[in-house]
Amino acid sequence: MDDQTKSRFSPQTIVAQGLGAYEPVTRGIVPSIHMAATYLRDRDNGYRAGFIYGRTDNVTVQQAESLIAALEGADEALLFGSGMAAATTVLLALDKPTHIVASQVMYWGFRSWLRDIGRFGHTVTFVETSDLDAVRAAVRPGETGLFWIETPSNPLWTVTDIASVAEIAHQADALLCVDSTVATPVFTRPLSLGADIVMHSATKYLNGHSDVIAGALAVADEGPLWERVRKMRGQLGSALGSFDAWLLMRGLRTLDVRVRRQAETAAYLAERLVGHPAVSAVLYPGLESHAGHEVALRQMVGGFGGMFSLRIGRGEQAAIAVAANVDLWKRATSLGGVESLIEHRRSIEGNGSPCPDDLLRFSAGLEDAEELHFDLTRALSVAV
Ligand code: PLP
Repeated sequence: MDDQTKSRFSPQTIVAQGLGAYEPVTRGIVPSIHMAATYLRDRDNGYRAGFIYGRTDNVTVQQAESLIAALEGADEALLFGSGMAAATTVLLALDKPTHIVASQVMYWGFRSWLRDIGRFGHTVTFVETSDLDAVRAAVRPGETGLFWIETPSNPLWTVTDIASVAEIAHQADALLCVDSTVATPVFTRPLSLGADIVMHSATKYLNGHSDVIAGALAVADEGPLWERVRKMRGQLGSALGSFDAWLLMRGLRTLDVRVRRQAETAAYLAERLVGHPAVSAVLYPGLESHAGHEVALRQMVGGFGGMFSLRIGRGEQAAIAVAANVDLWKRATSLGGVESLIEHRRSIEGNGSPCPDDLLRFSAGLEDAEELHFDLTRALSVAV
């Protein structure tokens, strides 16, 4: 599909056909995986095909990147060997000591990396980015160059108003980067709300089958920072491998249908668990009681995502006992796969984490919602 054709179609259609990519020699309806690590030079010493060496040049990776760029309405997308590789490259590509404003509640691995950002000459202020006054107060004129938000954010599913933070960032002459892993392009397109860069742990919903570790960045307008990100990825050798890119494209073909169903199941379970005697709080942006519901209604179109958390009234040990007692839910870290996962977050985040120790995180998969509910309420009975 060319650019004009792409803009005519919905994300649902774009992913279902994988942007219409096919195998040109046989006209196979699925593109092949290009595994070459290097490419032949022409007789005249050139590289007419435009491919020189596999660390930077691979057509399978480029096809997957085009698909993600089309989904996010981006100028360009780049794929990395993990979500962490994608996120950290943005920070490594800053060209001068920069003050960064970041969400206080976010994926713990990236937060702990940001906490040590001082060794690269940068400073960071963590704020509750759902509180726009706190965001404004954190700005240091002339110093703040980057805002990093995650929405909905792990594991409380706090919602940050992307359009408002974009306005604050741009008034400060800074860029806004949004980790949209949980929202997915099915429900939110941060670039259309004013963000400059959108980031995904493509390990999660984009791939969706718990068999690839990958990360993606997509940019609204290529500028100097993006040029440095692209160059640094080549220098660090952190691009995604071609086999993983092919698997990711295969996963993406069903993104729309998977994520909508996962969100439906999460909403159903969250609603049914409100008032359960073992549960002191249900955290899900789709619930009217959730502090971010109003903003979520505005910026999440068509669903509130497949993630929710429960706080267990009887505390940490009771929460761990619930996680140990499920059968159907799988007890593992990560999210966004076709199988439903349960996790006691504090056990993985450690004691320095702001995550409440009585919190269980749930990633709704594609199983029957009633069966998931039955399994979970049976496990919850140990915590009543
Ligand atoms: N962002 C979010 C919201 C995540 O949940 C994760 C991983 O759990 C990451 C980033 C990091 O991604 P990866 O594990 O692909 O490096």
